[in-house]
Amino acid sequence: MTLDRLSHDDLIARERELDAAYRAFQEAGLALDLTRGKPSPAQLALSDGLGTLDGDLLAADGTDTRNYGGLDGLPEARALGAELLAVRPDEVIAGGNSSLTLMYLYLLNAWLRGPAGDGSAWRETPGGARFLCPVPGYDRHFTILEDLGIEMLPVPMRDDGPDMDLVEAQVQADPSIKGIWCVPKYSNPSGQIYSDETVDRLARLATVAGAHFRIMCDNAYAVHDLDDDPPPLASIMAACRRHGTEDSLVLFGSTSKITRAGAGISWVAGSAATLDWLRQRLGVLTIGPDKVNQLRHVRFLKDLAGIRAHMRRHAAILRPKFELVERRLSDGLGGEGMGAWTTPRGGYFVSFDALPGLATAIVTLAGDAGVKLTPAGATFPYGRDPDDANIRLAPSYPGLEELDQAMQVLVVCVQLASIRQRLDA
Ligand code: PLP
Repeated sequence: MTLDRLSHDDLIARERELDAAYRAFQEAGLALDLTRGKPSPAQLALSDGLGTLDGDLLAADGTDTRNYGGLDGLPEARALGAELLAVRPDEVIAGGNSSLTLMYLYLLNAWLRGPAGDGSAWRETPGGARFLCPVPGYDRHFTILEDLGIEMLPVPMRDDGPDMDLVEAQVQADPSIKGIWCVPKYSNPSGQIYSDETVDRLARLATVAGAHFRIMCDNAYAVHDLDDDPPPLASIMAACRRHGTEDSLVLFGSTSKITRAGAGISWVAGSAATLDWLRQRLGVLTIGPDKVNQLRHVRFLKDLAGIRAHMRRHAAILRPKFELVERRLSDGLGGEGMGAWTTPRGGYFVSFDALPGLATAIVTLAGDAGVKLTPAGATFPYGRDPDDANIRLAPSYPGLEELDQAMQVLVVCVQLASIRQRLDA
């Protein structure tokens, strides 16, 4: 029965039952963790074949991967990234172990020097530069902007991507808005895939926003499907080509959750002008990427079909975990009116929205019963969720048994917090 139909006496009785269940969890001395959005050891073992190159360290064009040079990365690594990000190989640079580093490099230099030549430095924006941030979103994206002092403006996510009516209206009204973050497939944490219309409207933004505006498009979960018939994502670069806005798009990806987290290849893609600009900045930062690692990856993964086959093996490990989370939430909270959650078809997270005002209380309750949850607010700029509702759940790392226990605790904490809120009302 939904919460609002329970009588006062029913609420008191349920609170007592739940409190007893909660205390039993506390006494069990649990130490569980649902915060880690990283691959489990079983997933990492899928890439054990990455080990050696059997002494053959020459790339296809004869490059000795052991030596310095090759700022753009190996041609075969660029070709792989081009397939993954749906761009041409000449539109992509293959980098080092982290796409986040490339994002920071890009934004730091856009702020310091400007993304579009003289006079475009974001730090010179009258009143300060601002950035649109779809929420809930990825905390590390927000940390970069906070680090640079770029003001973050939250934009709600809809089922098909950010609220584009609001995005367009804000861009139109405020020239100090210099860009927008996007995770277009299996958005972190809410799992949406941007619709064709959203992709097209994003690609059109620069026609209004002007030459200094950038779409920071982090396609971190491009191939991280849980089912065999994954929903497609339209090519954002193709949409930008249609509108003549290629310079506004900067695309990122990596193999962090394909092979080894923090030890794979990263990619950055963009127009010829964007890549020329980036080469100048990258050339100051480094003599070149780790080409040995790039070669190992290409030999191991081969091409997009190889990546997809590999990702099906990840899915076989991840799917039961996501199904378990869904089952526990719908068995425990379905029809109770105590929150809503996503059922993503890929990516790494389930996004849970508690009743407004309860996320912090639920995270605290769970923590006191030995289940660590991502801090409330972490998915919002400045760590401030105005509704105090969103909690990011990361089912990938724990084993099934541990995950099951953690979910049972979470469900009881949500029920308990919701009933107590109702009683206090
Ligand atoms: N982008 C998103 C959306 C992520 O969720 C993550 C990791 O969780 C990353 C980037 C990190 O990527 P990398 O390991 O390539 O720096």
